[in-house]
Amino acid sequence: MTHDLQAAMASTPHRITASTSVAAVIGDPVKHSLSPVIHNVGFQSLGIDWVYVAFEVKAGQARAALDAMRTFGLRGLSVTMPHKSDVAHLVDTVSIAAQALQSVNTVEVAPNGLLVGHSTDGDGLVASLSAQGVDVTGKSLLILGAGGAARSVIDAMYRHRCHNIVIANRSLASAQSAEVLAPEISRSIALNDSAALRAAASSVDVVINATSIGMNKDSIHSSESPLSADLITPRHTVVDLVYHPIQTELLRNAHDRGAQTIDGLGMLVHQAALQQQIWTGFMPNVSDMYRAALQALS
Ligand code: NAP
Repeated sequence: MTHDLQAAMASTPHRITASTSVAAVIGDPVKHSLSPVIHNVGFQSLGIDWVYVAFEVKAGQARAALDAMRTFGLRGLSVTMPHKSDVAHLVDTVSIAAQALQSVNTVEVAPNGLLVGHSTDGDGLVASLSAQGVDVTGKSLLILGAGGAARSVIDAMYRHRCHNIVIANRSLASAQSAEVLAPEISRSIALNDSAALRAAASSVDVVINATSIGMNKDSIHSSESPLSADLITPRHTVVDLVYHPIQTELLRNAHDRGAQTIDGLGMLVHQAALQQQIWTGFMPNVSDMYRAALQALS
């Protein structure tokens, strides 16, 4: 596409017609989701006649939502809490990542009409790191947390051949159950075992917060961090999956200690871009999507 055409398209509002393709997110709550902003900017960057909306779907209604997807001819579906696990069991087939996680955040309509479930969260983080010059292959990681987001990250890091993973979680049993996603290269510690945490932090290249510590949806400030600042050194890359607020206490401390810092908004945008690639075959403009998300957040 020429620069002139791109500029002309950017200044022309998208006209929705009877033939516009529709994609959507289902979840509850969903009213404050950034996905419509991010995806509509992505579709615009591709210059395609698609629109993206949000549907509030209560727990237990995922089957009805997938039936509606077929009935209405939706071209793509994003899936968020509390439906990710239900949808993994309701679609016709699932990708390797979604199979390992038993969790689906993306539904694609295959050419034969079958619904295919994918999980783009973990690969979204890998893409976000790569865009900022961090290649996880061969790296040692400390992952804080063992919930849904942590599990998708562990699975993706294993598939991208990181060297080893320490999983630190409040509940040790949950951390141990996540080890199966990275067999042979992962081990678990309790988040409150300060000696084990100190030893792990001193041996890794990358620290990833996948707990919800630091999240504060009502404020742009967060004062809690899952990791003591004195465990962070300039050789670390510190990644926070939390993106509200975008500048968390963990990232502030990491910056002050001379570490490279990577926020969670990049992962959110990259996993959405991967969804669009699955639905349309094309990669949207991630920078445009990031700028729109940042603006919506602020
Ligand atoms: P989840 O499944 O509910 O898991 C929450 C995790 O945080 C668990 O490991 C939990 O430990 C831990 N945790 C919660 N409160 C804690 C506390 N007070 N002290 C210690 N540990 C605590 O949630 P999730 O879906 O994995 O999401 C985790 C975070 O990632 C959220 O902030 C979410 O917004 C963010 N996220 C970001 C993206 C992105 O694109 N950037 C994508 C997905 C999620 P236990 O197992 O012991 O309960």
